[in-house]
Amino acid sequence: MAADLQARIADRLNERRANSLYRQRPLLGTAQGPEVIVDGQPLLAFCNNDYLGLANHPDVIAAWRSGAERWGVGGGASHLVIGHSAPHHALEEALADLTRRPRALLFSTGYMANLAAVTALVGQGDSVLEDRLNHASLLDAGLLSGARFSRYLHNDPASLASRLEKAPPDGASLVVTDGVFSMDGDVAELPALAQVTKARNAWLMVDDAHGFGVLGPQGGGVVEHFGLGLDDVPVLVGTLGKAFGTAGAFVAGSEALIDYLVQFARPYIYTTSQPPALACATLKSVELARHEGWRREHLAALVRQFRTGAEALGLGLMPSDTPIQPIVIGDSGRAMAWSRRLRGQGLLVTAIRPPTVPAGSARLRVTLSAAHTEAQVARLLDGLAACQALPELGNE
Ligand SMILES: *Cc1c(COP(=O)(O)O)cnc(C)c1O
Repeated sequence: MAADLQARIADRLNERRANSLYRQRPLLGTAQGPEVIVDGQPLLAFCNNDYLGLANHPDVIAAWRSGAERWGVGGGASHLVIGHSAPHHALEEALADLTRRPRALLFSTGYMANLAAVTALVGQGDSVLEDRLNHASLLDAGLLSGARFSRYLHNDPASLASRLEKAPPDGASLVVTDGVFSMDGDVAELPALAQVTKARNAWLMVDDAHGFGVLGPQGGGVVEHFGLGLDDVPVLVGTLGKAFGTAGAFVAGSEALIDYLVQFARPYIYTTSQPPALACATLKSVELARHEGWRREHLAALVRQFRTGAEALGLGLMPSDTPIQPIVIGDSGRAMAWSRRLRGQGLLVTAIRPPTVPAGSARLRVTLSAAHTEAQVARLLDGLAACQALPELGNE
């Protein structure tokens, strides 16, 4: 007899709850920023990815508004039909300039850019090798591609080299890594990964969703940070919904790579272009991110302040110099309890649990933004100290 739909989903939901893995969506009642109202409660938040404080910037809002007046709201069609408008094109040129690459191609989301690049570049008979802590969209893309899928040890060039040895020599091999790991905050060992990859004639793809805007003197991300070129990292993905504060994503690379993606990448071809006014807003935020270096400097100072304070409290920090500063708790129930107790003190820090992170490594994912003040980071540290002082912070 066929399984009953309602019974099956009820079972799976109950199992999630029993394992402290049930997820809920906090309801945000304000724009992004340090001070928010969530589920009706005013809170000081440390969990968005608006690292430079551009998501609610008046100049970006003004660019969006005047963009909408000139270009309307909807993209209207896919890029290849009649949806590729002048603001999209100008944004692609600005992103190519930022990354110092011949061309960039705009996507509606980072998830789609990753699906597009991986599935267009490799398929059956090829290999895709991924860091085991890569973002879900990269892992999904690898599986969907139909290529032989293998994961190497986190940020470990030797492990990558041994996996590359085993890749069938007649197929192509694509190596895929996050630039800054989204749940740990550490930076990929790109020079060594690039060297190993090139030595095997494989291709390196970097998804720098969390590095753009934050790393590099101009905010050009991890590739700029390490001074790597097109032959080290031929496929570079960036997203626009994090440090750039808007939405969308891009792939930057050679003339031929972008031409190829336009021809063959299904998540590029079969979708409506993003609203042109959004591209107008992003053009402004990319300009601010590039030229207002003080945002990166202030952010780096907040990261140092947080780490010094959290280390003094003896909290389980990870080796990260980026604005992603997780505090590892371990057990999912305990991570939820910490998050709830912080919330009781007016602080919002999300607990991240499996399957987003490996089993037994539930954590509070603290993220800092240039929009935060030193006083706000001090408040977070006080809240963490108060949590720690509470007796027996177990499952609640
Ligand atoms: C957020 C994120 C994505 C997805 O980007 P969206 O534009 O939000 O779809 C892809 N890769 C990484 C590493 C990310 O952190």
